[in-house]
Amino acid sequence: MKKKLRLKLPFKILLLVIILILVVALYFPIRNIFKLVGHNYSLSSSVEILSLNIYDDVISKDYSKTLDKTIKDKDFIKDNYKSYMDIKYYNRSNFLKNVNKLLALKYTVDDINNINSKVSDGFYSKLFDEHINDISDYLTVKYFKEENFDRYRKYFNGDYEKTVLYVNIGLDKDYYKDTTLTNKFSTTMLVNKYHGVSDKFKAPDLVQISEDCSIDDQNLMYKEAAKAFEKMCRDARKQGYDILANSTYRDLKAQQKTWDIYLKLYGIKYNEKYVTRPGYSEHHTGLAVDIKSKNSNIFKESKEYQWTLENSYKYGFIHRYPEDKINITGISSEAWHFRYVGVDIATYIYKNNLSYEEYYAMFLDK
Ligand SMILES: [Zn+2]
Repeated sequence: MKKKLRLKLPFKILLLVIILILVVALYFPIRNIFKLVGHNYSLSSSVEILSLNIYDDVISKDYSKTLDKTIKDKDFIKDNYKSYMDIKYYNRSNFLKNVNKLLALKYTVDDINNINSKVSDGFYSKLFDEHINDISDYLTVKYFKEENFDRYRKYFNGDYEKTVLYVNIGLDKDYYKDTTLTNKFSTTMLVNKYHGVSDKFKAPDLVQISEDCSIDDQNLMYKEAAKAFEKMCRDARKQGYDILANSTYRDLKAQQKTWDIYLKLYGIKYNEKYVTRPGYSEHHTGLAVDIKSKNSNIFKESKEYQWTLENSYKYGFIHRYPEDKINITGISSEAWHFRYVGVDIATYIYKNNLSYEEYYAMFLDK
C-alpha cells in the first residue's frame, strides 16, 4: 500500500506540472489573440500574427487594415510587414503584388500611398521600370493627369505645379500642332493656338453693340457679353472714361482675309507672331472685344486703358493677353483685347493674376 502511493505521487506531480505548463502556454496566446481581436483584427489574421511572431509590434501600433486583409495572402512577405502597416489599404486588383514591387524598388511608404490613391491600374507599369524618386511631387499636384506624365518629365521646368499646369495647357508642344477643334459654344470656351473652332462652329445670339458704345454698326457680340460691355461702357463714361468697341465678332472668312492681307504686307513670320490663324481667334466666339479709347489712338497710353484694366472684371471681362503672360498665351501683349467670361471667373482671374489658359487648366479642363 505504501509502495503504491509512492509510485503514484511523482506521477501526479508530473501530471500537474504538465497541465500547469499547458495552461500557461495556452493562456498567453489565447489572451493575445483576444487582444488582437479587440484591436479589430479578424480571428484568422490574429492567429497568423502570432504564428509570425510579430505580435508585440502589431499590438503596439494602430490597427492596420492592410495587414489584416493581406496577412494570409500568398504574396505576403514577412519582411515587409512594418511597411505594410503604414500603407493604406485599397481594394484594387494586384494591390499586394504592386505594393511588393514598389517596395522592392525602394519607393517610400508615402510614395506608395500617393500612388495607390491617385493612379489607375494601367499606370503602375510606368513605375516598375525604375525608381522615380520625385513621383510624389507630381502626384500631389492637384491638376496631375497621368496621361501627361511622360510629357511632364520631359518638360520639367524646376517647379512641379507649373510643369503640370503648363503641360496640361499644351506649352510643351509647338503652336497649332495637335490642336483640338470644337463646334460647341460656351462662355467659358477656350480658344487659343491649341484649341480652335471648326468650320461648323456658329457663334450664337449675336447682337449689335449699341451705337453709343461702338465705333460703327458692324460690331456683333454674344448677347450677354454685349449687354455687359454696354454697361461697362456707360459706367465708365459716367466716371469720365470713354471706351468703344472697336472690333468684336469675326467669322472665319474675315479672319482669313485679315491673315491674307498681313501675309502679303509683312510675310509669314510677322503673321505667326501678330496675327491669329483663322479658326484660332477668340473673335470667332462673339466673346472678344478690342477696345478703343474715344480720345486716343493708342489704347495702351490712354487713361481708359488703366480704367478698363482695373474695372472690367466687375462686368465679366478679362484682359486676355497681358505682357507678363505672353509665354503662356502665345500672343504678343495686346492692350486692347478683352474677353467676356462672366463676372465670377473674371473676378477670380483678376484677383489671382492668371491667364485664361491657367484658369482653364486649373478649373475647367477635366
Ligand atoms: Zn482682339
